[in-house]
This record gives sequence, C-alpha cells and structure tokens, in this order.
Amino acid sequence: MVSIQNQVVLVTGASSGIGMACAKAFAATGAKLILAARREDRLQTLATALKDEFGVESYVLVLDVCDRNQTQTQLNSLPEPWSNIDILVNNAGLSRGLNKLHEGSIQDWEEMIDTNVKGLLYVTRALVPGMVERQQGHIINIGSIAGHETYPNGNVYCATKAAVRAISEGLKQDLLGTPVRVSSVDPGLVETEFSDVRFRGDTDRAEKVYQNLTPLTPEDVADVVLFCATRPAHVNLSEVLLLPTDQS
Ligand code: NDP
Repeated sequence: MVSIQNQVVLVTGASSGIGMACAKAFAATGAKLILAARREDRLQTLATALKDEFGVESYVLVLDVCDRNQTQTQLNSLPEPWSNIDILVNNAGLSRGLNKLHEGSIQDWEEMIDTNVKGLLYVTRALVPGMVERQQGHIINIGSIAGHETYPNGNVYCATKAAVRAISEGLKQDLLGTPVRVSSVDPGLVETEFSDVRFRGDTDRAEKVYQNLTPLTPEDVADVVLFCATRPAHVNLSEVLLLPTDQS
C-alpha cells in the first residue's frame, strides 16, 4: 500500500452513503478531505467527526454538481492548501423511479442525466487540467453494475451509468502518456439512502430492494476505492465490478 498521507482528496456526494464512507476511509490514512455535496449540515457534522476521530482537517464545499457555472467557479477558486487535488472521487449520483421508458417522468430523466453524467463531467473538466499540469492525479468514478447491464424499468439510470463507464474509458485514453490514473468502481446493490431517494421517501418500497439478499455496505465500496488509490504509481485498477455474493 502506497501512502496517501496529506494528499488532497475531493469526494463528491460526501454527505451520505458511499461518499461518506470513502471520506472516512481516506481520512483514516491521513489524507486531507474536501467534502462536497449540497447538504452543508451533514458535511459539517462529517468534518467534525473526521477531525475528532482521525485528527484530519477537511474543507466543506457546498456544491451542486448540476450547476455548471458554480461548479467551475468553486473548483477553480479553492483556497490553499486545498487547490491542488490529488484524488477525485466522482461519486455524487442518484436514481429516480423505476418505470418503462414510455411511462417515465422526463423531469426524473433530466435529474439523473444532469447529476450522474453532466455533473460528473463538469467536475472532471474543472479538475483534470490541474492534474495534467502537475503530472499527478487519480480520478475514481463510481459507476454501477447498471452500466454493464440494463435491468427492467431501469432504462435511463442504466444509460447514465453506461455513460459513466464510457467516460471513464475515454478519459483513460485521453490521459495515456501522463501519470494521471482513471479507475471505475462499479458496485451492485449497496444499502444507502439511494433507494429512499429513488422512491422519494417511500421506505417500504426502498426496503424491498434489499429483500432476499445481503447488500454491500458503503464501507465495502470504500475499501475498494481506497485500494485503487493506494496502488503503486505504475498500477491502475481501471475497472472493478463488486457485487453482493448473492446478487445475480
Ligand atoms: P446516497 O443517496 O446515499 O448518496 C448520494 C450522494 O450524492 C449524496 O451525498 C448526495 O448529497 C449526492 N448528490 C446527489 N445529487 C447531487 C448534486 N446535484 N450535487 C452534489 N451532490 C449530489 O447514495 P449512494 O451512496 O448509494 O450513491 C453514491 C453513488 O453510488 C451514486 O453515483 C450511485 O449511482 C452509485 N451507486 C449506488 C448503488 C447502490 O445500490 N446504492 C449501486 C451502484 C452505484 P446531497 O443530497 O447532500 O447533495
């Protein structure tokens, strides 16, 4: 394991689930965290917990990745010592509904595409030039099994994650010849607030998603993200698919 102590790690979607678990895993190694999401109260609570538990300083960045101008401006004006990002975990994302395409809500599609695809692109576009200039960096995109196969009624969400997979692959090609690495970590079912968000707080429906299997925990995913980030510089885990053992 290569030390990433004092490296600056930006995690989008750090206010919950996989992003929060990644922030904790990185903080435990002594990395410096930029915690980005829309819910400031949660980020502040997390920053305090990281300080208390690991003695790590964090920077809270209230950011809506769908807002192109805000994303560009905020990421290009980070104060010292946060301005040079070593590791970017592109995790912010969501799903809305489970519908047949011809019955789905166009508003839901817009939200998924704006967040999962365009938001990820805005953040990446803002930060990769600095990594190339400094000849150091690692982008870790949180994809999904949904980017590998389309499940019933999951059409648009699956399309967004297929897009993330294509973006990871394309970015890797773009950065060939530089030391900047690109990894895609693609989980199956993980128990987070994801299903609550998908079903807009319908907890009965959300809980049914995890019936008959033991889902991954956010920490399971964070372990893999950290593993990718701590390989020697010549090793790139370009794509990791991790599933609950009993998920088909
Ligand atoms: P959660 O709902 O627990 O977390 C989603 C995070 O994304 C929150 O921190 C939320 O923060 C953030 N987010 C959403 N929209 C925006 C936005 N516009 N700007 C900034 N941040 C945003 O779900 P998960 O932890 O499960 O999801 C994390 C990632 O993992 C997603 O990309 C998801 O697609 C992927 N994934 C999840 C799986 C699962 O089964 N749970 C399986 C495979 C992949 P806030 O609301 O504060 O802005």
